[in-house]
Amino acid sequence: MVNTELIPIPALSDNYIWMLCNNKHAIVVDPGESEPVLAMLDQRNLVLDAILLTHHHYDHVAGVLALQQRTGAAVYGPATETLPACDHPLKEGDTVQLPGIGVSLGVLDIPGHTAGHIAYYGESGTGKPLVFCGDTLFAAGCGRLFEGTSTQMVDSLGKLSDLPLDTLVCCGHEYTLANLRWALQVEPDSPALHQQWEAMSQLRAKNLPTLPSTIGAELDTNPFFRTSQAAVVNAATRYTGKPLESAVAVFTSLREWKNNFK
Ligand code: ZN
Ligand code: FE
Repeated sequence: MVNTELIPIPALSDNYIWMLCNNKHAIVVDPGESEPVLAMLDQRNLVLDAILLTHHHYDHVAGVLALQQRTGAAVYGPATETLPACDHPLKEGDTVQLPGIGVSLGVLDIPGHTAGHIAYYGESGTGKPLVFCGDTLFAAGCGRLFEGTSTQMVDSLGKLSDLPLDTLVCCGHEYTLANLRWALQVEPDSPALHQQWEAMSQLRAKNLPTLPSTIGAELDTNPFFRTSQAAVVNAATRYTGKPLESAVAVFTSLREWKNNFK
């Protein structure tokens, strides 16, 4: 049954706070600010039931305390990270029941960007499954390795790439065009990438979000999801200047390339 709506609320300079709501209740993910969430709750006359956190970075949690105080919403977050508040510490295999919007989401451990980063995934009530993946997977990119290793990140991205192809990818930042510009250096001959560049450029020209993406679109265009494709392996090998013998080595080369890409 289609009864919920998924809304990316722009926050800070390039963050999105994801809201999932019906006509009475709402949940939000990674509120880096409280004001835009409170404004949306007001505008739609919604009760905030829950706040879901993916990781501890400031731009994802700075609005939590104000929202908790104003709404009494329950806070969910990664068990192993230090958060401003957390009523329900979570780890992989846990389930988050959100009866107000008729949704329940599973939890995945996806370390790499931070040591305890988690994702929330499942049927969303919008007619499609979704994943809230924070700063681990972006459209045409992935998060920087602040607290984890390449091996962890490859494993984490692997869990996300195994989700159903039509899963809506709800990530934490509007980085899509910059990521695509780099991805086009990696796979300049990819028709899927050129198409994506056209479509996403048009959205940004109208100041619209490029998100959510889908797992299927990311498998077609995201170099970090394509570390076993010959074109990506060859490009990464050229960048590093020596043979790359594993998916982790290809990932490491791509991550370094992206870090240095201007
Ligand atoms: Zn982050
Ligand atoms: Fe972030």
